[in-house]
Amino acid sequence: MMHKTRPVRLNFNGKPVVLGGGRLAVIAGPCSIESREHLLETARGVKAAGATFLRGGIYKMRTAPTSFQGIGESALGFVSEVKREIDMPLVSEVTDPRQISDIADHVEMIQVGSRNMYNYELLKELGRLKKPILLKRAFAATVDEWIKAADYVVKGGNEDVLLCERGIRTFEPTTRNTLDLNSVAYLKAHTSFPVIVDPSHGTGRPELIGPMSLAAVGAGADGLIIEVHPRPKEALSDADQALDFAQFTDIIAKVSAVARALGREIGTQP
Ligand code: PEP
Ligand code: MN
Repeated sequence: MMHKTRPVRLNFNGKPVVLGGGRLAVIAGPCSIESREHLLETARGVKAAGATFLRGGIYKMRTAPTSFQGIGESALGFVSEVKREIDMPLVSEVTDPRQISDIADHVEMIQVGSRNMYNYELLKELGRLKKPILLKRAFAATVDEWIKAADYVVKGGNEDVLLCERGIRTFEPTTRNTLDLNSVAYLKAHTSFPVIVDPSHGTGRPELIGPMSLAAVGAGADGLIIEVHPRPKEALSDADQALDFAQFTDIIAKVSAVARALGREIGTQP
């Protein structure tokens, strides 16, 4: 039994963008947006490799209060211009309900981070928004808790929710998290939410991102979200897992071949 996926549609630069409509979305960009030039350079690199949707943190939720917290509001002065120039929509995270009104006009999709999956007041607030929500799985959430979190957004009136598997915490310390591809196959079979896989946080290791991207496509994912940095060692957050352009380009070529073998194509056009 396969549940039919309900595609999420939006408009960007006068063109329709569809996620979960049969094509494979490739969302890529830095963990954190560091400056206008950094976003532009990264966007150019990932677009050349075949990505169609941009990611980039404006507000970050970091485990340590001393870690870089994102450039915040100062990004709002240039993200719209960069997106237009590069012709790619953007997904970025809100870490607090008070940021929603500031960021909503500058992004095409709002990410709820793993650490906020249980923030039900935030989810209720996003339910009132007319904007797709990328809901990441909390690192110790069961699939059932994750679906119920998505239901909070839907119940508020916003049906445009995508679920993002980003790895869970297990007894295994070799990888940053354990990417749970069971959840992907399960969600595709039993729910209608589009499913996106994040092999960057799911593994924390650049050499595993390619293999797990291919596995995610095989498991039926509607898209991938991958961290890329022009110079990974210099990244202000998640430097250890960021891919450079050459690594990303190589992975996307393989992802495209696997997608084609399964009768699919990379893209977000209808
Ligand atoms: C991120 O996408 O950079 C991020 C912080 O992810 P997560 O919430 O899954 O840890
Ligand atoms: Mn990150």
